[in-house]
Amino acid sequence: MATTYTTWGSVRGGCGHDHATREDADLCLELDMDGCGGQGGYSDRQVYESDPEGYYVGDDGEYAWPAGRSGAALRRVGMDERKGQS
Ligand SMILES: [Zn+2]
Repeated sequence: MATTYTTWGSVRGGCGHDHATREDADLCLELDMDGCGGQGGYSDRQVYESDPEGYYVGDDGEYAWPAGRSGAALRRVGMDERKGQS
């Protein structure tokens, strides 16, 4: 499974994309923040990188969520919890 990138936030939900590069994901995040800024808010999304096990992992390395799904209701999985599942 190739590494892909996506963006997700608990409030905003995910962008639903599989970005091929980190640059694309960063750009997507920027555009989302621009859109939110125009409404007086901000985006809580961050970039997640997929790992070989099919999880997206955040920059903080603490949480992951199953690739191929998105949405604000999606529950993030703690890294300890995730190891228990594999
Ligand atoms: Zn995107």
